[in-house]
Amino acid sequence: MKVGGHWSQGLKASMHDPSLIVKQDELIVIIKDKYPKAKHHYLILPKADVRNLKALNIDHLSLLKHMQDEAKKLINGIESPSGFKIGYHAVPSMSQLHLHAISQDFDSPCLKTKTHWNAFTTEYFIDSEDVIRDVEKYGKVCCIDERSAKEILKKDLRCHICNESLKNMPKLKEHILVHMGKKNNS
Ligand code: AMP
Repeated sequence: MKVGGHWSQGLKASMHDPSLIVKQDELIVIIKDKYPKAKHHYLILPKADVRNLKALNIDHLSLLKHMQDEAKKLINGIESPSGFKIGYHAVPSMSQLHLHAISQDFDSPCLKTKTHWNAFTTEYFIDSEDVIRDVEKYGKVCCIDERSAKEILKKDLRCHICNESLKNMPKLKEHILVHMGKKNNS
């Protein structure tokens, strides 16, 4: 399958890349995130063309539930002391709907910027259950205000576990190692 060249279309190519695919069925494909922001980071995508959260309607409900069920099955088979979250970015950068399943260690060289951090550890990361609830109740996703979502990305850095404020990304990355038991607090 020939897929367009713009970077925002990259997931559409990766959905067909055997080196990234971990599971698929007739409705969805699960791939490894190419630039993982934690030790375990996967994307669950529908095979049908679904551009983003704004394109969702009541007809997508069973698909959304299936994506979430498959994400849960996947993470249940992975040992990760930090646990996992399953959700969507309020304003995704990549085209084609994708559900993130990401471990909460955030131990990855690809996690570099304040934007990365806030996108995964604040209310910018919308729980899959909330998306499903909206579509079930209203026939669309209502829980997103794009303008305020973009402001969230500029928020000061805070630890996702103890809420401590950190000056910069190197300090934050050093700090979270303490929670992961990789470093002493002294
Ligand atoms: P977002 O659109 O903000 O939900 O995030 C897109 C995710 O896709 C990020 O976690 C990226 O690391 C990941 N990503 C970007 N390009 C690719 C690609 N070509 N293949 C697989 N994952 C990608």
